[in-house]
Amino acid sequence: MGWTDDRVESLKKLWLDGLSASQIAKLLGGVTRNAVIGKVHRLGLSGRATPSQPARSVLKAPRSTRPVVASPPAQRPAAAPVPAPRPVPYVERRGTATVLTLGAHMCKWPIGDPATEAFSFCGRRSAPEGPYCIEHARLAYQPHQMKKKSSPSELARSLRRYI
Ligand SMILES: [Zn+2]
Repeated sequence: MGWTDDRVESLKKLWLDGLSASQIAKLLGGVTRNAVIGKVHRLGLSGRATPSQPARSVLKAPRSTRPVVASPPAQRPAAAPVPAPRPVPYVERRGTATVLTLGAHMCKWPIGDPATEAFSFCGRRSAPEGPYCIEHARLAYQPHQMKKKSSPSELARSLRRYI
């Protein structure tokens, strides 16, 4: 069956109403779905977005002349900041002297908890100008803030007075 004007009009209407090519073929009768699709294209009605629309019509669509602007690369999440090296905590070395062995020219810096057997005194040679070795003299006369952080316990400090 050919495409009479009436049938073409019906085709146009049905197509624009959104019917699929196969539905239209069934309604018109005497034509295949492919024939409907072919006629639609010849009529220039193929602009309708439909799943049955061949890709060919998509290619006909004018390509965008807008220059493709390269979008900036997606911002990566900031790399995890490298953790700053933690300050090495002051670790007191086990002293070499005890109350019994502490001599006149030995560093009297108490180390550890006086309540325990591990308690000891630095015992290194003290600096001429004070009761502590150079290292502990430096610690002893640090600014208050730092001294507070690394000085021996209150008990050890009070004990130091009696030596
Ligand atoms: Zn010392």
